[in-house]
Amino acid sequence: MSLDTTTAMPTNGRPIPDPVPNDLTLPQSVDVVVIGAGIAGVCTALELAERGLKVALCEKGDVGAEQSSRNWGWVRLSHRDPREMPLMVESVRLWKGMNERTGAETGYRQCGITFSVTTDEALKEEEDWAQILQEYQIPARVLPAPEALNAFPGLTAPIKGALYNPHDGRAEPQKASPAIANAFRMLGGTVHQNCAVRTVETSGGKVSAVVTENGTIRCSSVVVAAGIWSRLFLGNLGIDLPMLKTTGTVLRTDPVPDGPEGTFKFQDYTFRRRLDGGYSISGPQTGLYEITPDSFWLAPKFFPALKSEFTRLKFRFGKRFVQEMKLPRKWGATDRTPFEDTRIYDPQPDTKAIDKVYAQLQAAYPAFQGVGIAQRWAGYIDVMPDIIPVVSSTEGVRGHIPGLFVASGLSGHGFGLGPGIGKLMADLVTGAVPVVDPSQYRLSRFSDGSKIAPMEGILRR
Ligand SMILES: Cc1cc2nc3c(=O)[nH]c(=O)nc-3n(C[C@H](O)[C@H](O)[C@H](O)COP(=O)(O)OP(=O)(O)OC[C@H]3O[C@@H](n4cnc5c(N)ncnc54)[C@H](O)[C@@H]3O)c2cc1C
Repeated sequence: MSLDTTTAMPTNGRPIPDPVPNDLTLPQSVDVVVIGAGIAGVCTALELAERGLKVALCEKGDVGAEQSSRNWGWVRLSHRDPREMPLMVESVRLWKGMNERTGAETGYRQCGITFSVTTDEALKEEEDWAQILQEYQIPARVLPAPEALNAFPGLTAPIKGALYNPHDGRAEPQKASPAIANAFRMLGGTVHQNCAVRTVETSGGKVSAVVTENGTIRCSSVVVAAGIWSRLFLGNLGIDLPMLKTTGTVLRTDPVPDGPEGTFKFQDYTFRRRLDGGYSISGPQTGLYEITPDSFWLAPKFFPALKSEFTRLKFRFGKRFVQEMKLPRKWGATDRTPFEDTRIYDPQPDTKAIDKVYAQLQAAYPAFQGVGIAQRWAGYIDVMPDIIPVVSSTEGVRGHIPGLFVASGLSGHGFGLGPGIGKLMADLVTGAVPVVDPSQYRLSRFSDGSKIAPMEGILRR
């Protein structure tokens, strides 16, 4: 942890999710083991428990301590790839009832998000986005600059206008996953933290158990919701999940008296209000892509995504390459695994870049002038080649194991999608009619000859 000399307050150090009680005794046998207690894992566990299944949730560190506590907290329908829209519409419906469902504060608020643009051409593109939203009866509209800035008195951003969607919202990353995990426990589910799953065992070719560092749990289904670790975990089972990682940095401010409720995106900065009265600030310039051995192995699959991100990301070739080169790719049930060696992945924030972002915001918006920096952090983001999550069985892929499911590769926008992903995953595990067409999210799309590419223009947003 470093000290910010201007405020004499600790300003780095990871965001700490609300605590969740730990179940130390492993059940001998359950219906489903969920691996990973980020937003995808906790939402899946809660859905399954609500349907009466016996579920154990295993987490190598603390509930929500990786991506799910480090994100911007945006729950947005806008600028979504149409392939994700049905799942996101369902997610927003679930977010709206999440406080009541969990009996706890997840921080969800339908606050609206303003996506500002600086050129006429970009404003025209926003008209297209508004139309996509209107097809789902979402009353998004394109606003001229003065109207777009109305909700942010004093902000002097040189914008042409904005897409405004009143149905977009926010939730609190450090509260939501713990609240959902606690609700899951109230239904009889067990949460095992500091309990890495090493591997999956099979009997007669089907899932029969998971082996954790603390013992074995018999089960007939396993959901891998292990975030950035899913590729490594599944690789050990002989299943290829083509996933890369990028890093993003976030800054949290001290409380801003009478600060705006709405969330705002400008080309140089973004801000969204937090329950504690401060703001989570970020900007596109804080994205970092560290080159690893996977970058080369997966290059052909990721070429379209990397090409369109080339100008926005900083690329770095450094010690991360060597660290990942040394990672074991194969192990057995009795071996210590990389999951036990890294309980919580806590990358270094790009302090220089995020401070520049904040300085730009302060210069443009008097509401932030004199407001101190409370904290900065970074988080790894798991990304699929088409920027669409995997919510799927392993059917149709090499190494298929009946009873094994994957909810991962949420591609930088999975916090908002989490509740819908949990519901869809529970449908797949239980054989219920899926809440949305699951074919877009199948794992086999990467190996069955399908064309794989992000939606044109989506990465510029
Ligand atoms: C800086 C940043 C900003 C973002 N902003 C937004 C945003 O505004 N809106 C949005 O919707 N999304 C956003 N995202 C993306 C979002 O945070 C992720 O898509 C989402 O949180 C991923 O959830 P997850 O459950 O898949 O993964 P994670 O939250 O990473 O959870 C996976 C968990 O699995 C555990 N695990 C891994 N391996 C094992 C094992 N073998 N055994 C047991 N446990 C294991 C890990 O410890 C981890 O806790 C952002 C992400 C970042 C980093």
